[in-house]
Amino acid sequence: MAVRPIVTYNDPVLTQVAIPVSKDMVELGVFIADMFETMDHAKGLGLAAPQVGQSIRLFVMDADGLDEENPADSTPIGRRVVINPEIISESQETVTFEEGCLSLPELRDQVSRANEVTVRFQDEHFASHEMTLRGWTARVFLHEYDHLEGILFIDRISAFKRALHKTRLASINANEVDAGYEIAPKPSNS
Ligand SMILES: [Zn+2]
Repeated sequence: MAVRPIVTYNDPVLTQVAIPVSKDMVELGVFIADMFETMDHAKGLGLAAPQVGQSIRLFVMDADGLDEENPADSTPIGRRVVINPEIISESQETVTFEEGCLSLPELRDQVSRANEVTVRFQDEHFASHEMTLRGWTARVFLHEYDHLEGILFIDRISAFKRALHKTRLASINANEVDAGYEIAPKPSNS
């Protein structure tokens, strides 16, 4: 297992729509183990494959116990590998809460998301699961799912609020932020 460097804002891999994962993908087990190790090392609640430079539809998450005020409001699903996820439905009811992202070190803002979401995905054995998630579990799932669609949480806030982060985004783009974990070098010619 190895900790992989994390790709940050303005790397083209973060804006690509990721491709489905197939069973015959080489070294998938090693990749999943590395994803968990990288997430834990960076103290993240979730990590999507594009964030380590692989544009495939896979993420890991570990968001249980996050809702300290209302633990019953969040659906516990444990440490999970999520492969080829689909969003089946989202609640009309939304919740606004502060989010961060390992690809946007030291940047946080309020993001509005559905409070309940019904999803389908495959696990590491390619068994299918369908479940309804609420609260933080739903939020983390939707945040990681967005990464597979090439969307960052700052794409979900107003242009006005995004403009307030201009300086921070410029330093992240220049790899000038000390994230506390290894950051991948920016690809050349970008
Ligand atoms: Zn993220």
